Amino acid sequence: MTRDLHHLVYYSRNRIAADGATLCEAVRRILAASQENNRKAGLTGALMFNSGCFAQVLEGPLDAVEETFERISRDERHGEVSVLAFEPVALRSFGTWSMAFVGGSLEDAERFADVARSSGFEPARLSGDRLHEILRDLAIEAEPATARTPSAVA
Ligand code: FAD
Repeated sequence: MTRDLHHLVYYSRNRIAADGATLCEAVRRILAASQENNRKAGLTGALMFNSGCFAQVLEGPLDAVEETFERISRDERHGEVSVLAFEPVALRSFGTWSMAFVGGSLEDAERFADVARSSGFEPARLSGDRLHEILRDLAIEAEPATARTPSAVA
């Protein structure tokens, strides 16, 4: 088991053929499975869904990040998965969230629309650092301490 702390940042396109409440329910199911699985695997991070795209930061032991991302990248609910960063890190940025969810509020939507516009809606033009920073800021703003999911952190 490789315990070295790593983080992975990616961006993908939604392939869930639904809208409104059905789409919300589909994203809610992804989030629930993520929180449950990530807690057991010692992973933390944040998931954003907006403008038809997902963005996610996963952080934890290298093996757990790799195994989980392999599953995620095969998931047909999204596609065109673009990895923007995958590297060792000294500390976790989302230490108390098994998977924070951001992107649901109007403010989040506006902020993400700015980012999407500035990158020309082209994931490859976003830097991993920039996306990581946005998710971290949104997670801090969006979730009160009491709503955070305790995690089994390394
Ligand atoms: P399952 O028991 O297989 O499924 C959990 C729920 O999702 C169930 O309600 C099931 O009906 C539903 N489901 C599963 N697959 C599909 C499908 N193809 N279409 C429709 N519904 C389906 N998993 C993590 O463990 N950690 C993550 O951080 C994470 N992030 C994700 C981010 C995105 C953008 C997406 C699309 C998926 C993510 N997943 C994540 C889910 C991952 O791809 C696997 O579906 C999941 O890990 C399988 O776990 P499970 O066997 O416990 O869940």
